[in-house]
Amino acid sequence: MELRIANLSKTYANDVKALDDVSLDIPRGMYGLLGPNGAGKSTLMRTLATLQSPDSGTVFLGDLDVLNQKDAVRRLLGYLPQDFGVYPRISAEDMLDHLAMLKGYTQRGERRDLVEGMLRRVNLYDVRKKALSSFSGGMRQRWGIGQALIGNPRLVIVDEPTAGLDPGERNRFYNLLAEIGENVIVILSTHIVQDVMELCTNMAIIHHGRVLFAGTPDDAVSSVGGRIWRKFIQKAEMPEYESRFHVISNKLISGRPLIHIHSSDAPGDEFEAVNPDLEDVFFARIKGLN
Ligand code: ADP
Repeated sequence: MELRIANLSKTYANDVKALDDVSLDIPRGMYGLLGPNGAGKSTLMRTLATLQSPDSGTVFLGDLDVLNQKDAVRRLLGYLPQDFGVYPRISAEDMLDHLAMLKGYTQRGERRDLVEGMLRRVNLYDVRKKALSSFSGGMRQRWGIGQALIGNPRLVIVDEPTAGLDPGERNRFYNLLAEIGENVIVILSTHIVQDVMELCTNMAIIHHGRVLFAGTPDDAVSSVGGRIWRKFIQKAEMPEYESRFHVISNKLISGRPLIHIHSSDAPGDEFEAVNPDLEDVFFARIKGLN
C-alpha cells in the first residue's frame, strides 16, 4: 500500500499559504518530512490524519480516498499529534485502556492483554499506574506512540515527536520507531535533521508549503555534491562573507565560527571542499540553492 498525495493546497483565512501544490508518493517504511518551523508540516499531517480539509488536491491510501472516506481511513490510522494539549491526571494504563475501547476493543480480557503488551513495548509497564500529567517529555512521547499503535494501523503519522527530548530520551524514541514493522507507512514530520538521518529511508524537504526535494537521504546528499565548502573565519568577518558568498550555515567550534557556503565553482580564498551531509542539503535547499 502506498500513500499518494497529489496537488494538495491549503490557504488559511489569514492568507497564509500553508500548502502549495504538494505532491508526494510515500511508500512503506519510514518517511521523513523535514522542514523548518512554519513550513506546513503540521497542516499536511493533520490533512493526512483526516482532521482538516485542503482547498484542493487528492490523497489516496491504496484505493482509499483519504479526503472522502474518513471513517475507513481512521480505522487504519495511528496519529501522534505534535501536542496532546492537556495531559490528564488519569493513569497511563487507564487512558490507554479508554483509547483502546474507542478503537473498538470492547472485550475486556482482550483489551487488558493489548494494553499490557503495549505498555511493555513502549517500556512504561512499571509506571503504568502513574498519572500521564506526571510523565517526562520522553515518557509522554513513548506513551503517545503506544496509543498510536493500538489497532495495528497501516499508516502511522508522528508530528515533531522528538522536539524537546533530551539525547537519551530521543534515542529511546528512535529505537521504538525503528521497531515498527516495515509493512507500515510511517511519516515522521520534523525540523531536526538528525531524526531523518537516523531513521528514514525516504524523505522530502518542505518549505513555505512547497516540496523542495523528494527522494532518499543519499540522493539528497549527492544532489549538492562538490558544491559545499567550509572555512574558519573571525566573528567580525561574518557580514563580509555573507555579502560575498551563499553562507548556508555557521557554527561555533571552540568559539570560532565555521561557515559552510554553497558554490558551484571552487571559491578560492582558502575554502576547503566538504563532504556534504543532510544538514548542508537542508540549509542549502531552504535558501533556494541546489
Ligand atoms: P509546521 O508544522 O511546519 O511548523 P504549520 O503547518 O503549523 O507548519 O504552519 C504553516 C503556516 O501556516 C505557518 O505560517 C502558520 O503560522 C500557518 N498556520 C497554521 N495553522 C494556522 C491556522 N489555523 N490559521 C492560520 N494560519 C495557520
